[in-house]
Amino acid sequence: MLTRNLAALTILMTLASAPSPTAAQEPDWSSARQETVGHLQAMIRMNTVNPPGNELQVAHYLDSTLKAAGIETHLFEPTPGRGALVARIKGNGSKLPVMIMGHMDVVGVERGHWSVDPFAAEIKGDYLYGRGAIDDKGMLAANLETMLLLKRHVVDRGGTLSRDVIFVANSDEEQSGEWGMGWLIANHPELIKAEFALNEGGRVRIVGGKRLYVAVQNTEKVPHTVTVTAHGPGGHASIPLAGNAILRLGRALAKISEYREPVQVNPTTREFFSRLAAVWPNRDERMAMADVASLDARRQQRGARVLGRTAVFDAVLRNGISATILQSGIRSNVIPTDATATLNIRTLPGQSIDGVVKRLERLVSDSLVEFKITSRGTDAPASDFGSPMFAAIRESASALDPSLTTVPYLSTGATDSARLRAWGMQAFGLLPFPLNQDDEERMHGNDERIPLASLEFGTKLVYGAVARVAR
Ligand SMILES: [Zn+2]
Repeated sequence: MLTRNLAALTILMTLASAPSPTAAQEPDWSSARQETVGHLQAMIRMNTVNPPGNELQVAHYLDSTLKAAGIETHLFEPTPGRGALVARIKGNGSKLPVMIMGHMDVVGVERGHWSVDPFAAEIKGDYLYGRGAIDDKGMLAANLETMLLLKRHVVDRGGTLSRDVIFVANSDEEQSGEWGMGWLIANHPELIKAEFALNEGGRVRIVGGKRLYVAVQNTEKVPHTVTVTAHGPGGHASIPLAGNAILRLGRALAKISEYREPVQVNPTTREFFSRLAAVWPNRDERMAMADVASLDARRQQRGARVLGRTAVFDAVLRNGISATILQSGIRSNVIPTDATATLNIRTLPGQSIDGVVKRLERLVSDSLVEFKITSRGTDAPASDFGSPMFAAIRESASALDPSLTTVPYLSTGATDSARLRAWGMQAFGLLPFPLNQDDEERMHGNDERIPLASLEFGTKLVYGAVARVAR
C-alpha cells in the first residue's frame, strides 16, 4: 500500500511540475478525431501487403496531405512500387530534431478467417477494422495528425518549436527492411538525423477494463541464428549404428531443452518491474516483481521463479533459446551422415552470443556435435529513460490519465529502433493505443481492429509528447 501511495505521489508531482501546453497548442480535438479516422481508413483501403508491398500509393497519399497543409516533404521510390516519405516542420534550431516514424506495409491476411473485408476499413460498433489498424497504419495516422496539428495550431499561429519535427513513413518493415529504414539511413541520412525517434514497439495495456501502464520500449533483445549439427556414420538402415547422427542430435537437444540461461536484471527491467510492482493487480506477481527489482540476488532468484511461469516475463529476464527448424535424412531406409537443428537465440542487450554458444558446447560436450553462428543481430545501447523524450511521453500520458504508470520496457521482438540506436539516436517504441490482451493479439492475426477511443487517445499521446519535447 505504501508503494502504491508513493507511486501516486510521484505521478502527482510529475503533473505539478509539467507546464501545461499553451492555449495556442491545444487543438480542436473533435475535428481532429474525425480527421484521424478518415486518414486511417484511407490508408487501410490501400492494400500494402508485403510482399510485394506497393507502399508507394500510401507515400503519395501522405505526401499530398502534408503538402496541402504547407509542410515540406521528400518523396522517394527506393525501388519500383516501394515508397519512402520524409516530411519536416522546422523549429528554431535551439535543440536537435525529433523524428516520428511508422511503416506503411502490412502483413498478409487469411481472408476466410476475417468477419469483415480486411481492406474496407469498416467501422462496426466502437471499432475500426482492417489490416494495419494497429500495426502500423494507426501509428502513421496518429503521427500524420500530429504533424497537421503542430503546423496549424503552433506554427501557423506564430508559435515556435525548439526542434525540427521529422515525419518518416517507410516500407518493407515486415520483411527484410532492405527498402525501409536501412535504405533511408544509407541514402538520405541528412534528412532523418535526429536526437530522438518515436517508433512502434511499446504498449498501453488495459488490464481488467482499466488503463494500467504505458510501456515505452527503450531497448530490445538481439536475435541470432545458431545451427547445431550432429555428425555420424551413414549406412543402410538394416544395420543400426550406435553413432546415428539423428539420435546424437536428439541427445544434444534433450540437454538443451533442460537448460536455461541465468537470470540477468538490467537497468531497464529493474525499472520496469519496480514501477509495475506498485500497480500490478495480482498479489504474488506484484511481490515477485519487487523481488526481481531488488538488488538482493536471493530475492531476484525467488522473484524470477514466480515470474518465470509467464513466458513473456521469463523472456525479458534471460537470454532465450528457441529451437525452430530440424533437418536431416533423405530416405526412410538410409542412415544420414548429419542432422541439423536451428536455434533462434535472443540475447539480452550487451550479452555475447559467443558466450551463450560456449556454454551450450560445454553443456552438450560432444566433439561430433558442432555449433555455428549463422547470423548475428544488431546489439545497440539502450535509449536513456531519464531523457527529455521519455519524460515528455510520461507527462503526456499522465495529462491524459493521471492513473497511468509509464515504464521503460525491453521488448523480446526486434524493431528498426536497434538500427537507429546503433546509429546514435535515442529511439523509443510506442504503441500509443490502449488495448486489452485480446485486441493486442489481433496484431498480425484475424479481425485486426482499433477501438476508436484508443485511436483518439493515441493521437493525443503522440501529439502531447512531441509538443512537449519540442517546446
Ligand atoms: Zn509493425
